[in-house]
Amino acid sequence: MDFKYNVEQFADLRILRYRVPNFELLSLRNKKMIYYLSEAALCGRDILWDQNNKFNLKIRNILEKIYSTISDDYKVGEWDDFVLYFKRILFSNGIHHHYSMDKIIPSFSKDYFNTLISSIDLTCSEELMSVIFDSNKENKRVVLDSNVDVISSSANNFYEGLSQQEVEEYYLAKKNKDNRISNGLNSKLVKINGKIEERIWKLNGMYSSPIEKILENLNKALKYTETEQQNNIIQILIKFYETGDLSLFDKYSIEWIKDTTSLIDFVNGFIEVYGDSLGYKGSWESIVNILDKETSKRASLLSDNAQWFEDNSPISSEYKKEKVVGVSAKVVNVAILAGDCYPYTPIGINLPNAEWIRAEYGSKSISIENIIQAYHYSSLESGQLEEFAFSNEEISRSNKYGFIGNCLHTDLHECLGHGSGKLKEGVDQDALKNYASTLEEARADLFALYYIMDDKLIDLGIIPNLEVGKAEYDSYIRNGLIVQLTRIESGKNIEESHMRNRQLIAKWVYEKGENEEIISKKIKNNKTYYVVNDYCKLRSLFADLLKEIQRIKSEGDFEAGKALVENYGVIVDKDIHIEVLERYQKLNIAPYAGFLNPKYELVKENNEIVDVSLSYGESFIDQMMRYSKDYSFL
Ligand code: ZN
Repeated sequence: MDFKYNVEQFADLRILRYRVPNFELLSLRNKKMIYYLSEAALCGRDILWDQNNKFNLKIRNILEKIYSTISDDYKVGEWDDFVLYFKRILFSNGIHHHYSMDKIIPSFSKDYFNTLISSIDLTCSEELMSVIFDSNKENKRVVLDSNVDVISSSANNFYEGLSQQEVEEYYLAKKNKDNRISNGLNSKLVKINGKIEERIWKLNGMYSSPIEKILENLNKALKYTETEQQNNIIQILIKFYETGDLSLFDKYSIEWIKDTTSLIDFVNGFIEVYGDSLGYKGSWESIVNILDKETSKRASLLSDNAQWFEDNSPISSEYKKEKVVGVSAKVVNVAILAGDCYPYTPIGINLPNAEWIRAEYGSKSISIENIIQAYHYSSLESGQLEEFAFSNEEISRSNKYGFIGNCLHTDLHECLGHGSGKLKEGVDQDALKNYASTLEEARADLFALYYIMDDKLIDLGIIPNLEVGKAEYDSYIRNGLIVQLTRIESGKNIEESHMRNRQLIAKWVYEKGENEEIISKKIKNNKTYYVVNDYCKLRSLFADLLKEIQRIKSEGDFEAGKALVENYGVIVDKDIHIEVLERYQKLNIAPYAGFLNPKYELVKENNEIVDVSLSYGESFIDQMMRYSKDYSFL
């Protein structure tokens, strides 16, 4: 079968597929392990939907009912707008855009919607109607604006009836008792009659029914583990879900870091905190992955030399780790994406997030090869590079070294960047508040950018020459100052942490190097380009900024961090933005991509499982509807 990466495109979204290489060659035991871990992953889907907004599941149910039962007579007029809205909601795991966090407003009318609803005997409450249509209601999922109460103005479902100050005080008090536990990671905070109540996400707590299903499948997976260690890890995770005890989650994380050799590995839990303006609440996610042994050699070369990288990094020596502990790194191929990793997915993961575990035990870092590859192959023919790169030299360098540069950047960012550096003694790890994520991503990116132009990588045999680094510099500057603006709506500024980080870095080095023309802004045929003239000097600017951001993190210098992010990372150059959107529109490429999963099925003979099959043929809506049918537990 000819494998197609591009499946379909609508609104600002592209749907892609990824391959699971060599699945057929795995042992039956390994395949079963993947199957049950994948089931455990899919069973948590509705948790994330509910976390994102408390009306999401109700709205999804109505939309699905309409989509699957309406008669063809009604599939006229605004029907296409309805389908478009439905698909966008499915993609975002709710009514808010997955990236901008803004509420998605339907392009069909209220009247049309009412006609659809009444034709199939459904009802939709006044409240739900206004959640769907009224642009002021539940209008932003995560608010990061430091001038407003970020808790009461965010539409996520992590808090009810509390102000930002109350939440901050509540968790400060907890932290004073025990500053290790990731307090708040697995609960909703509710204030009723003046009393604050914490609703824990656990078996027999909030989200009990999907958790019960997750547990059922984790228990089945236990039978197919590769080692005692892996068996132990899953058992601790099971206990965590049963009790909600966060110290067990830490224990699980510590054991999970140590498992670097299992062929099949997974993440399943309340993990990333980007969905909460204050960064306490973990959005539910899961991935299952298969170790790619060949490619992992590249990452282990980096991690084996972690101390060298730490010692030679351009940060102030007082903030270097004397001993970099257990930075492990591997390259994997994903077998399933779920929760907050689906369909929009990261290309690398570095966990756990708890600062004290990272300091004492290190972290595990993975690059997701088959996703990076799918992005790369699907974009080759898009014409984007030709549009935004200034010269043929830049284009051919990117064609030749862009992919390896990209992979290596991810490896350096995940394996070494996040794990490097240390806090000054007594500094609060939450001191940077709503700027922490952006600054942390910037720190890891700068670490990668600094080292991707280092001869050490040639000595280690990882890259053939520094053209790889140059290709990555071209691409980073192009993206940070131009290309990523294609993801921002006209008139808006940048909200998302990773995007803020990229503009922060690119704009800062552009400005600092302006007098020496380290990067120049060029206009050709009325089009703006940024061109790197001096790669060595650019590298030393990256070093300067890395040093400063490490200082900000180490000292918890909130004001300096805030100034960097607000001055460089947030505000979009309006004129360039308009131009870039026009140029991009002509290319007709949706700026965001998400991935469909393959479908796994047990093959049985005489009631015995003899194989697990894998297929790729599903369409976007079919996959989403199947998930709703088979994995709705809320
Ligand atoms: Zn990162």
